[in-house]
Amino acid sequence: MSKHIYLDYNATAPIRPEVAEAVAHAMKQPHNASSVHRYGQEGRKLVEDARTKVATLVNVPPAQVIFNSGATEGNNTVLQHFKEERILVSAIEHPSVLEAAPNAEQIPVTKDGIVDLSALEKLLQAEPKTGLVSVMLVNNETGATQPIRDVSNLLKKYGALLHCDAVQAAGKIPIDITELGIDFLTLSSHKIGGPQGVGALMLGLCGITPTLLSGGGQEKTARAGTENVAGISGFGMAAELAIKDLPAYQKMDALRDLLESKLPKGTVIHSSDSPRVAGTSLFSLPDASSETLLMALDLEGIAISNGSACSSGTIKTSHVLQAMGASDKEASSALRVSMGWDTKEADIDGFLKALEKIMNRIEEKKAAHA
Ligand code: PMP
Repeated sequence: MSKHIYLDYNATAPIRPEVAEAVAHAMKQPHNASSVHRYGQEGRKLVEDARTKVATLVNVPPAQVIFNSGATEGNNTVLQHFKEERILVSAIEHPSVLEAAPNAEQIPVTKDGIVDLSALEKLLQAEPKTGLVSVMLVNNETGATQPIRDVSNLLKKYGALLHCDAVQAAGKIPIDITELGIDFLTLSSHKIGGPQGVGALMLGLCGITPTLLSGGGQEKTARAGTENVAGISGFGMAAELAIKDLPAYQKMDALRDLLESKLPKGTVIHSSDSPRVAGTSLFSLPDASSETLLMALDLEGIAISNGSACSSGTIKTSHVLQAMGASDKEASSALRVSMGWDTKEADIDGFLKALEKIMNRIEEKKAAHA
């Protein structure tokens, strides 16, 4: 078997060594950040230092950061707060948005996977008045960057608030919550090389604090539950490194272009005409099934996904590709390569070699059965 190659950063990024160290360090002491004694004070300091670092990632004052268990919680917190109001969500949102607002109306996207602004305006013009709109900053499957500033400008006209799942944007593009006009923004630590099970809800300027869990009054009563001091501390370290490495990430478009230029003839690359983050490529190979390819690639030591990994580990047809109007054939042969802080050209070369070997094998089998 060839060397292991990990190209599934959008599912979860490998933890950065500095983060693992920060987490291990924080775990060595009994830190309850609410305790008065020295261990409590140390825990509080770790949490507040991390808050400042995570705040910097989206340019928000630290007091507007609420730590939680991840973006699924953050998204549920916001959407459930507005459940009595009319909600619009883009058709390509993550299931943690779509499932948290089952009665929401969907905003269609273009064939390139970009939210359709004129369809959004039509929905906003209709009665009853919309309370909340949820549009992600970067799509996890295609990497397409959504026109959030245009969305927020439109929402201002109609008095609706904006929730933005920025999980796949952090560390990939600069984010300024105020400049983008976002009221509620959600982040997840494990997508930027931090630990799993920790994230943040960041509040914009609307003055509303949606709350899901009540109890011990942590996070200034916005999110009860003993703070995950070690996880938060690791998240802070990951945020600091993500900011530092943003220019390096953005240069990965060269690797993505290299990859896409060497894919088999007839491959369809999704969202290739839209603004995209540098290290994500979603493509459909001619006459192949994602399921077969993913398993064959895994046997070659290559970890990628079909773009819509779901919790059970089964392979589902992508609702994102469906919303983009892709054919069933394209949707069932889609593969996603996603890169991050430790990706090198050799990983892309290794992937391409393994893919070529597998595609040749498929061709040979087909020829034998012809
Ligand atoms: N939103 C997006 C766009 C995601 O990619 C993910 C992770 N797959 C989530 C939300 C959920 O994040 P978490 O794992 O922190 O719950």
